[in-house]
Amino acid sequence: MLPLLFILALLPAQEVAPGSKPGERAERPAALPDPTVPGRGIPGIDVQHYTLELAIDSKRRFTEATATLELKLAEDQRFLELDFHHMFEVIATRVDGRLAEAELTPHRLRINPDRNLTAGRSIEVEVIYRGLFPQDESQGDVVGMLFDGHSVVAYLEPDGAHHWFPCNDHPSDKATFELIVDVPTGQRAAAIGQLIEEGPSPRPNHTRSRWRTDIPTATYLVALGVGPWVRIEREGTHMPIWDYCEEGDREAIEKSLAVVPKMMNFFEERFGPYPFEKYGHMLTRKWIGGMEDQTLSVIGREEALSGDQALLAHELAHQWFGNLVSPYQWRDLWLNEGWATWSELLWLESQQPKMARKTLAGWRRSTFRLAMREHPHTLAEPDPQNLFDGKLVYDKGAMVIHLLDEYLGREKFLQAARDYLGEFAHGNVATSDFQAAFEKATGEDLAPFFASWVHANTLPEIAWSIDSVETLRNTGEKKRWKVTVTAEQRNQHHPMMLELELRGTETKQRFRVPLYFREATVQATVIVPFVPENSVLDPDKRGPWVPAEPRQD
Ligand SMILES: [Zn+2]
Repeated sequence: MLPLLFILALLPAQEVAPGSKPGERAERPAALPDPTVPGRGIPGIDVQHYTLELAIDSKRRFTEATATLELKLAEDQRFLELDFHHMFEVIATRVDGRLAEAELTPHRLRINPDRNLTAGRSIEVEVIYRGLFPQDESQGDVVGMLFDGHSVVAYLEPDGAHHWFPCNDHPSDKATFELIVDVPTGQRAAAIGQLIEEGPSPRPNHTRSRWRTDIPTATYLVALGVGPWVRIEREGTHMPIWDYCEEGDREAIEKSLAVVPKMMNFFEERFGPYPFEKYGHMLTRKWIGGMEDQTLSVIGREEALSGDQALLAHELAHQWFGNLVSPYQWRDLWLNEGWATWSELLWLESQQPKMARKTLAGWRRSTFRLAMREHPHTLAEPDPQNLFDGKLVYDKGAMVIHLLDEYLGREKFLQAARDYLGEFAHGNVATSDFQAAFEKATGEDLAPFFASWVHANTLPEIAWSIDSVETLRNTGEKKRWKVTVTAEQRNQHHPMMLELELRGTETKQRFRVPLYFREATVQATVIVPFVPENSVLDPDKRGPWVPAEPRQD
């Protein structure tokens, strides 16, 4: 997700759009209860598949629906509970085909079947319901089927899925999905996975579409939207890229999102094959920024018209980081947002270098602020009251991924990223999994890196000096000097790479030495074609650090 406020903070004023304001791993038990988003998710349930049949009128944000869940229980149970919003009217509930009593309590559906439910076997639960999609806030945003007067779109993070279907609303219980959606003639539905069929519905004056994914999916990522839309089908990559917008916006959206196939190819080269059936965007008139619904991101119409490449890159990168590999618990959200936000930089550095510098400067400022204000929460332990903390989870999250990239080197870093994605594909990850996967892939001990950057908000205090300049046997035009430099992190070791620029008296006399802080003190010797007069650490301001006070001794 990328909240709009966040995008505005990053964009220079003139660029704001007019008017805009693994198999095995997947089997580990669901991470419940989850203290970060308490009250959601049901321990002991493993949903395998959801079939959701919905008739939706987007003008009224109303639905009539049948949800059929195939699930297994870890232990024998007398009752069954599911996350489900109490605003819906439940018409009937069946367990294994037999009518069962059901009671709605706040955010829960409690089902009382006429016999015990035994552990381990496949149980079918059917819930027939109707009502308006509720518009409740969670973590500062309205979540659920977001209604803008024209369309409804699924905007579910972290726990809005139960605002439209009964479920185990937690990312650690992934399942496959089939959606059968009837919409009034003139409206169009778009949803997760592959479009299986599209045509007339048995319901008079309605159109039906059927969508399916056999890829395990977290509930908060299930894509669904209905609106008075046209579909734009793009070329330029090996999979369907379909965007949904209103007819009046078609021409503008065809242009403003035209970069996406190129962006897809760019990320595939770096992260590995795109993991899902298709991609694209559906637009809402709400000012939301974006949300990475699986195979179909939601973006605000104004943001889409502005062609905001950072936003497009962010949501696309989430398909790997967040969707293919999802948080084990909500405290692990930085693994989604840090990677997706860093991916903005990866793309911008290749396309819009000036914008890239501005983006990195923003993350650096946030990282400084967290350290200076002794922010009580870290990436590993975010604030449950402010899960989507922009400075921490997004900016510092991205800064840490950037620091790791520069420390390991791009090639080694991206190989480790692909290994990590491969190991946890279709499953869930905690911070410790990320560290372990990168250690395995690179052979590096990353414990000091994670201790200083992920489990703390401190900054290194660095002192550096040119220790010696030795004139080499110089003959003819080519004069050379051997220079030794030392840099020392005086407070606490923060593994990172920073460049030290040696400067001579003339402008062209510049030489950069990469300093890899594998230990708190680094010494490097280089041969340069001039006598360095002084040195500047981190001349491009790519890392967060502070100069050490001179020693008193
Ligand atoms: Zn995001």
